[in-house]
Amino acid sequence: MRVLLITDIHANLTALEAVVADAGPVDVVWCLGDVVGYGPNPNECCTWVEGHAEITVVGNHDWAALGRLDLDDFNESARQATLWTVEQLTPHAYQWLDALPNRFIEGETTLVHGSPRHPIWEYLLRPAQAAANFEYFDTDICFVGHTHAPAIFQEELARLGEPGYVPPYGEPITLSGGRFLVNPGSVGQPRDGDPRAAYAIYEPETRTIEFRRLAYDIAKVQGQMREAGLPEPLVVRLARGL
Ligand code: ZN
Repeated sequence: MRVLLITDIHANLTALEAVVADAGPVDVVWCLGDVVGYGPNPNECCTWVEGHAEITVVGNHDWAALGRLDLDDFNESARQATLWTVEQLTPHAYQWLDALPNRFIEGETTLVHGSPRHPIWEYLLRPAQAAANFEYFDTDICFVGHTHAPAIFQEELARLGEPGYVPPYGEPITLSGGRFLVNPGSVGQPRDGDPRAAYAIYEPETRTIEFRRLAYDIAKVQGQMREAGLPEPLVVRLARGL
């Protein structure tokens, strides 16, 4: 079974469509949240994910659009983008987001947005954080998003303080010998210094995962964001990948 693993689309339909075309035939889609927030196409992205993803868990920006978070916790650009998103969302998109779980277990895999310890909020950036989080899920593999940076943490290596590992793009690797926290990176707003869309293809039977990066029409999305009146810092950061 080929799984298209996507997260942090952030209302960037252009990036999402490029990823879907690049992924080729897949059997299922798993989405790790933050479908909306920042980008110019919140409803279109909700419609696509609702129609195509077998599993979707909810992210902090989805929660913000649902009014479940205090926007004072966001920076000014994120706050403005959330208020814009709230104005745009159709009642159907709102209801769909509202019904998403914050954790899902599928076979040997747990899916959350942030971390198994704090599914909405925690950023798994440092090995010590990753190491602590292995106590909070029972499966061998947990997929996360939220940091917008691809990474694989293996349990023993994280306990030794090893940083997250980013495998070479386009080369399948097997998740064997231990338990893993895996982040495929962000489709719609990468923050690891590489502005290309990030996603992964996963095969549960063999525990094989292939990380991928893909150039897409960033200028087109920037034009749509400016037309929508979204904050300029968000427009600029898209091309920087930061
Ligand atoms: Zn996000």
